[in-house]
Amino acid sequence: AMFLGYRMMKGKQKLSLSALDVMEAANCESAVDLENLKLLELIGRGRYGTVYRGCLNERYVAVKLFNSANRQNYTTERSIYCLPLLQQHDNIAHFLAADERTTGDGQLEFMILMEYYPHGCLSRYLSVHTVDWSTCCRMTHGVTRGLAFLHTELFRADQYKPAVAHRDVTSKNVLVRADLSCVLADFGLSMTLTGNRHSRYGDDDTMAISEVGTVRYMAPEVLGGALNLRDCEAALKQVDVYALGLLYWESFRRCCDLFPGEAVPEYQLAFQTELGNHPRFEEMQILVVREKYRPRFPEAWKENSLALRSLKETMEDCWDQDAEARLTAQCAEERLSELTLIPVSLRNLSNARWPTQVGSASSY
Ligand code: ADP
Ligand code: ADP
Ligand code: MG
Ligand code: MG
Repeated sequence: AMFLGYRMMKGKQKLSLSALDVMEAANCESAVDLENLKLLELIGRGRYGTVYRGCLNERYVAVKLFNSANRQNYTTERSIYCLPLLQQHDNIAHFLAADERTTGDGQLEFMILMEYYPHGCLSRYLSVHTVDWSTCCRMTHGVTRGLAFLHTELFRADQYKPAVAHRDVTSKNVLVRADLSCVLADFGLSMTLTGNRHSRYGDDDTMAISEVGTVRYMAPEVLGGALNLRDCEAALKQVDVYALGLLYWESFRRCCDLFPGEAVPEYQLAFQTELGNHPRFEEMQILVVREKYRPRFPEAWKENSLALRSLKETMEDCWDQDAEARLTAQCAEERLSELTLIPVSLRNLSNARWPTQVGSASSY
């Protein structure tokens, strides 16, 4: 195991293991002794960071390392995690500490220490597991709940949490707990939308504000350079919700109850059939902006059950071409709570033999 000589001692006392366990949120100033942090194995590589499973005082942690070129990404992610109230939410990844150091060759390196999520990201989980209806609803509902919370401006006693846009909602930026509940993670591109100097933007900011995120998940108005910056707060939330719709499609395609009597299709990223593993910006423009194309629903979803109708409608209402017509994250959260309540095991329903009643056709 590699050994890292990290040490972050902004406060007076070192925290013990139990103190770290209960370490409260918004706590960038807390002292965590990282002297004993060991990096064990590489578990993820994104566009900005390299993530290791690490060990700190006999507890597994995740360690996200940024090189000096990605300093902005690090600074942003740290500042988002440290916003008041953020760490008190069950569907936001759990932040432990942040630190920086100079490596042997004189380069600055940045680190975010967070809870380790054993299943990794949602995309990875779904690529090896199928899920039943209630699990799938619970996972997607959790992501949505996290996003709705992120989008909300909150005043609680003396604490203020601004509304925040995530700006990189993808199935790789959602992490899965051991109990399969989900948290929103990777805030490196996030932006506070209220309560700061950023609430007004000049033309110079346009590019910087609009052209970020993962190409595959970019909303039509982002791809088409038509983001409505006059109401930046609403516009950036709508961009997040578009990507959320794609994430729903990826997730429910792996729901075994929605493919009664047939094999569940292999996991696919949105637009993977159409554009493969590395879609280019221009290809996405043609498909999503010009052709207004969206992921296709499987044949098995043609069945006219309440669950399937509600589910498809929810996806379509998230990825609507017209950004203003999309659901808000709050509304999407409500839709998913309703879905969760539909007692669906289509597999069971279609196998079940209902007592035939005179005059009643199949009517569930
Ligand atoms: P980037 O900003 O470079 O995309 P992410 O924060 O998204 O970095 O992390 C990259 C990948 O590392 C994720 O998609 C996920 O697979 C894995 N990962 C990140 N954080 C954790 C964690 N706390 N526990 C387990 N896996 C993680
Ligand atoms: P995926 O893993 O879904 O294929 P990636 O993040 O790897 O998504 O992106 C696919 C390709 O698009 C890569 O070549 C990547 O460099 C490029 N790409 C991704 N996001 C952007 C962006 N915001 N701007 C420009 N190119 C991007
Ligand atoms: Mg990421
Ligand atoms: Mg990122």
